[in-house]
Amino acid sequence: MSKEIPYKIYLEEKEIPTQWYNVRADMKNKPAPLLNPGTGAPMKAEELEAVFCKELVKQELDDTTPYFDIPEEILRFYKMYRPSPLVRAYCLEKELDTPAHIYYKFEGNNTSGSHKLNSAIAQAYYAKKQGLKGVTTETGAGQWGTALSMACAYFNLDCQVYMVKVSYEQKPFRREVMRTYGAAVTPSPSMTTNIGRKINEEFPGTTGSLGCAISEAVEAATSQEGYRYVLGSVLSQVLLHQTVIGLETKAAFDKIEVTPDIIIGCAGGGSNLGGLISPFAGDMIRGEKKYRIIAVEPSSCPSLTRGSYVYDFCDTGKVCPLAKMYTLGSGYIPAPNHAGGLRYHGMSSIVSQLYHDGYIEATSVKQTDVFDAAQRFARIEGILPAPESSHAIKVAIDEALKCKETGEEKNIVFGLTGTGYFDMMAYKSYNEGTMSDYIPTDEEIAASLANCPKV
Ligand SMILES: *Cc1c(COP(=O)(O)O)cnc(C)c1O
Repeated sequence: MSKEIPYKIYLEEKEIPTQWYNVRADMKNKPAPLLNPGTGAPMKAEELEAVFCKELVKQELDDTTPYFDIPEEILRFYKMYRPSPLVRAYCLEKELDTPAHIYYKFEGNNTSGSHKLNSAIAQAYYAKKQGLKGVTTETGAGQWGTALSMACAYFNLDCQVYMVKVSYEQKPFRREVMRTYGAAVTPSPSMTTNIGRKINEEFPGTTGSLGCAISEAVEAATSQEGYRYVLGSVLSQVLLHQTVIGLETKAAFDKIEVTPDIIIGCAGGGSNLGGLISPFAGDMIRGEKKYRIIAVEPSSCPSLTRGSYVYDFCDTGKVCPLAKMYTLGSGYIPAPNHAGGLRYHGMSSIVSQLYHDGYIEATSVKQTDVFDAAQRFARIEGILPAPESSHAIKVAIDEALKCKETGEEKNIVFGLTGTGYFDMMAYKSYNEGTMSDYIPTDEEIAASLANCPKV
């Protein structure tokens, strides 16, 4: 008889990690460097510092330091909503009638409703420490903008958010949360930047795109004294901050003396997945342990499973450095999938390299299957999951059902990255049976990839 494991495995406050883990230090094949899109040479720190905060540039370029101390001020903020619980999904296990043990790490227990706050607070801190007046960013669905607004309010920093116009109009609640925290929210494309005015002139009445909002936010940062641009995913610095998720998960498992067999995360730009798996991937790279790690992406935006591993632009406006990553091409416009946070054309260079080297598997899932899983999970485990997170739920359920066939008592853990309260239009479409499953053709993907830069 094994010992009883509680529903919630909590760490104590003093067990919150005091360092982030940089998996690049252990990686034998380092992620390829960012390149200057004009010269094709690796980006130098000085070049990046014109756009990004100094300390964050240091973290971005460092692939040898294994641990970074988490500054005291950030730890203090973490203590308001961390450690996040690792939950044993006993009720879901019973409903699935599986011998598998299912766990999830829940990051939705803060007002922004997702894991993005873990990096937002770090980025706001370094901006403040540098003596900046404020930061600019873009937001699509709104989770990142919300998290950054909260972080900037805490450090009394100005926060300018360029929100894709269609979301600005369709998600007024997110917009008002950001404004409540003091952010200035501008629908993009706007008339406040050169690139915004140009796009509005060229495409009158356009409802905007993430790529366009990035270009506007970068322009706003570089044209105002005392401002820098910050990004909520994809970059190695973001993944570094998100390792607080994986380190806590590992510590909680150690506490109950359980070793996970399968680790599952949804993958948009790769920050939550990378953060969750980094300490486990480190074990694998050092040859100490073996896990199955699964990245789950929407079949409408399948960068790992159907993209190419090449250098590409990070934004549609082509103002950012080139990154080597699994990509669908920077001009790829995914079908309007409801998981807004997973609609990015590329993937973190760290996650891309780990996938390329065989440490990670990837799979893609259809939108309606994802919402079937979301509904099932909500009804039995109580939490209304974000559509993004539900991609991981779907695959966790599939793996648990495989265990039912084989009789294996595997330990499965997945990242439950957030709540879905601001995604009720997506649930409405699912409940009314009007949700569709768009899967791009090979020709569409090939046409988009043809526009990647030749490096
Ligand atoms: C943004 C977001 C994601 C995807 O971003 P990653 O960088 O891939 O982690 C996943 N879940 C939620 C709730 C999000 O807000």
